[in-house]
Amino acid sequence: MTGTKELIEQLHISHHLSHAQWCTLLETHAPNDDRLLTDLARETAQAQFGKKIYIRGLIEFTNYCKNDCYYCGIRRSNRHAQRYRLSQEDILACCKEGYTLGFRTFVLQGGEDVGIPDAMLCRMIAAIKQLYPDCAVTLSVGEREHAVYQSFFDAGADRFLLRHETANDVHYRTLHPAPLSLEHRKACLWDLKSIGFQVGAGFMVGSPGQTYETIAEDLLFLQELQPHMVGIGPFLPHCETPFRDYPAGSVETTLFLLSCVRLMLPHVLLPATTALGSASANGREQGILAGANVVMPNLSPLSVRKKYMLYDNKICTGDESAQAVAHLKQSLAAIGYELSADRGDSPLMQAQKKES
Ligand code: SAH
Repeated sequence: MTGTKELIEQLHISHHLSHAQWCTLLETHAPNDDRLLTDLARETAQAQFGKKIYIRGLIEFTNYCKNDCYYCGIRRSNRHAQRYRLSQEDILACCKEGYTLGFRTFVLQGGEDVGIPDAMLCRMIAAIKQLYPDCAVTLSVGEREHAVYQSFFDAGADRFLLRHETANDVHYRTLHPAPLSLEHRKACLWDLKSIGFQVGAGFMVGSPGQTYETIAEDLLFLQELQPHMVGIGPFLPHCETPFRDYPAGSVETTLFLLSCVRLMLPHVLLPATTALGSASANGREQGILAGANVVMPNLSPLSVRKKYMLYDNKICTGDESAQAVAHLKQSLAAIGYELSADRGDSPLMQAQKKES
């Protein structure tokens, strides 16, 4: 049988492991192996991006949601969530502040809010692109029909984040009630790719029902999809969900998987997520040292921050955006990194543009 060290070396060189090999790596890795993996992943990220970290300004523009995902604090059945929806004016004010702070990507994230017509979201995208033509607009608004995704793209949206959550069908049904299905989630990701979005997939670490086998499936699905970005963060329980009593996902395993993804997809954009920062005081810095190269500070108005609670104890719900960016700069400097002024398109997308 191949040893763990050999598996890491194989991943580093060939960017591929089989399902059985992933399971072996996940089951058998010891602290020595983790050091090797982290070092290789960090070197790979630095070879690609230097010591520059891309920032994306996250605007949580609605917490209304028609879905009822068992893990999520803004699920439809959470009667205690105070629902809100930002106006176009509110959103543009967030962008204005963000632009001044140096952001060149705005991420509009929200629940699947049937109260915002698709045409209204298109107008929102177009308004941002008109005012800030040098900025990228990323959407994270869940599952839509192909034609709707196309209309968002035509309105000017550049990127789309849609975590696949888990690539195992049984596990998917453990996390989501009907009518949500893995088949549809995956179809959305392929649609988004075919339309021309830079696409982000990903999953939570330690969600109820997750096993080494399902994680191996996640990694193989990511390899097949070849997304431009991969979002990975620990599952964190929310007190008003059916998963309230489940333990949080492990920070160590999250860091380990960030490094695995960095070696499997060397060019990928890999955020050190808010969930990672919420699970551990220096989680985001550790994420960067494990091969991540993106952070997504919150630009939402302070008045709504506490209402966008996907999980308990989410960080940065009380900080002014400017304060948070200053703090981020400091903590990155402490580990030898700095913020990039670039809008941070996927290196794969840039290469394709040059060819065409
Ligand atoms: N409605 C959008 C955005 C969802 S929120 C969509 O469906 O894509 C963004 C991500 O937060 C989710 O994809 C999920 O992976 C993560 N998330 C939700 N609840 C969480 C929890 N309790 N712990 C950790 N991450 C969570």
